[in-house]
Amino acid sequence: MIEYENLGESNKKFFSEYLAAFQYTLNSGWYILGNNVKNFEIDFAAYHYSKHCIGVNSGLDALILGLRAFDFPPGSEIIVPSNTYIATILAIVHCGHKPVLVEPDIRTYNIDPARIEEKITTNTQGIMIVHLYGKPCEMDKIMEIKKKHNLVLIEDCAQSHGAKFNDVLTGTFGELAAFSFYPTKNLGALGDGGAVLTNDPKLAQTTRRLRNYGSDVKYYNEIVGYNSRLQEFQAGFLSVKLKHLDEITAHKRKLAAIYDSELSGKFIKPVTDYKHFDVFHIYNIRHPERDRLKKYLLENEIKTEIHYPEPPHKQKAMEGIISGESFPISEELHRTTLSLPISFGHTEKDIYRIVEVLNKF
Ligand SMILES: *Cc1c(COP(=O)(O)O)cnc(C)c1O
Repeated sequence: MIEYENLGESNKKFFSEYLAAFQYTLNSGWYILGNNVKNFEIDFAAYHYSKHCIGVNSGLDALILGLRAFDFPPGSEIIVPSNTYIATILAIVHCGHKPVLVEPDIRTYNIDPARIEEKITTNTQGIMIVHLYGKPCEMDKIMEIKKKHNLVLIEDCAQSHGAKFNDVLTGTFGELAAFSFYPTKNLGALGDGGAVLTNDPKLAQTTRRLRNYGSDVKYYNEIVGYNSRLQEFQAGFLSVKLKHLDEITAHKRKLAAIYDSELSGKFIKPVTDYKHFDVFHIYNIRHPERDRLKKYLLENEIKTEIHYPEPPHKQKAMEGIISGESFPISEELHRTTLSLPISFGHTEKDIYRIVEVLNKF
């Protein structure tokens, strides 16, 4: 059986380094907000040539705390792609704002810049973009719209660690970016984790306070905060992983290149563009008979996933929040998309086997 993802296999190469990091942290006797978090924040910021990184408990928390740091008036409108993972929209809702959904481009699966301006009102404060599947959004066009309408830009980089648009890293275009280190993400921890990245000292300070009870100095609280701290153990593991991130990316890109060149034309493959440095958190294909294809692959001992089976606007949780609008492009994507195995633990041989089976469908 070829698994969709086997984290034990993907992490095997780092086991000895993880064990050393574990032992170091255990011995340090310091398990919350210590040197591991500090060092990882410095390294993760440096990787992006950014000034500030704040480690938090999850990607969702990075989005919530990051958005909250702007202190927009309640009910502000935030533009967001209609086909994102629900977390992006949940963050907007948790902050008391209104998600305004914009359809993706059917080619890139990312927010369609041509559809953003029609959704901007006097109440719009920001655009929250998502570099979905590890493909960068069309940043040249998005930056133009951001400037023209004087909007804040927040990047959801939960799937795009190390991805670039025109050689510029995702997470460095807007005022602030949110990352997830959920174990399956390209930079995955061994548990939950997330981070906010920003060059703005004020946003950094507010996010730092928000993650730790609104406090700078222990037992003195400046604002109404949360408990959302990146764990010392996880930060130690993440520092190990970060050193290997480019190697992980290169491996995934090599596997993607095999799919790109070998898969038959009956499948819609991800578009390639010289401006995009894709990191393939997910490698998806599209096919009108997606469900039958998934079943066929399973019968041939190949596991796949669907990202995602149900679009946000059709989720029960969104009743009364997103209503009355239809998002046909999003629905088409959710109906036809299938994610193929592409992890650090997969070999080129695995991918050739998957291609062979797929091309016989
Ligand atoms: C994974 C993910 C998140 C949430 O990250 P968690 O660490 O699971 O909270 C947010 N947005 C997107 C696009 C994601 O893929």
